[in-house]
Amino acid sequence: MNIPQYATLLFILLHATLRYPFYQSSTRMKTARKASSPTDIALMYGVLICTVILPVLWACTNVFAFADYRGTEQGMWTGLSLRLLAAFFFYRSHKDLGSNWSDKLELRTEHSLVSNGIYKYVRHPMYASMLLALAAQCLYLTNYIIAPLAFLSYFVLYLHRAPQEEKMMEQQFGEQYMHYKQQTGALIPGL
Ligand code: SAH
Repeated sequence: MNIPQYATLLFILLHATLRYPFYQSSTRMKTARKASSPTDIALMYGVLICTVILPVLWACTNVFAFADYRGTEQGMWTGLSLRLLAAFFFYRSHKDLGSNWSDKLELRTEHSLVSNGIYKYVRHPMYASMLLALAAQCLYLTNYIIAPLAFLSYFVLYLHRAPQEEKMMEQQFGEQYMHYKQQTGALIPGL
């Protein structure tokens, strides 16, 4: 295996390790409202296949070798650095959301609106970190199919989910959320 293949596996493992403690504490929280539609759940499974299963197959087998190309060393290191930065934002957003975090669209019985930490600047730092991670991956996972597909699958989930999530938050927090929305960008501060 080469550096990009090892890195692909390591970053998947890193994301799972960073998320695991938050996942565990979230299973202890009571859910007040579930808002995920069947489309949202289907898109989540699509993301799981495109961002975990296919990249692992790419790294460990030759199944997708027909679509491989030769990348540059500079591209690889840039991609790996950006992916590391994305992992930091990924962790930071989990930490700031705390017990309000969930992998699906839901509200906890004691849900509070987080507008501090990284959430002071953007409403969707976790989704932004994933999009950055998957864009960075395109620089070192040198395959015409696997890397773009991973990014695209997450982008489609984001486009579908973010408006629903904001609607749910607006219904729950009313004016407070509307005010928060005016102060923040969706993925990039100020945008
Ligand atoms: N979209 C956010 C959060 C992703 S986790 C991000 O990208 O960082 C998804 C869950 O987080 C949703 O089910 C919602 O209940 C919760 N959530 C989203 N924004 C929140 C906020 N500002 N405060 C508290 N909970 C929030």
